[in-house]
Amino acid sequence: MATEIYCPKCRTEMTEGYAVDHTHGGKVQSTWVEGEPEESFWTGLKTSNRAAFRIQAFRCPACHYLEFYTTDQVNI
Ligand SMILES: [Zn+2]
Repeated sequence: MATEIYCPKCRTEMTEGYAVDHTHGGKVQSTWVEGEPEESFWTGLKTSNRAAFRIQAFRCPACHYLEFYTTDQVNI
């Protein structure tokens, strides 16, 4: 996201970042998945045929508030 984001709580400029998931294959960028979580014995959660997007996170350095946005659509 190219534009500056300002904290909705205290109006300080927020710092761009992202959320990380730690898997047995390494570190991956977290994704937002459409719908409610549905457990799977084999994969932990069923995610097939769900819309999914990468998560971008902005952090306020003053009050530590986090704000999330979705970016690229991904297949999971
Ligand atoms: Zn703030």
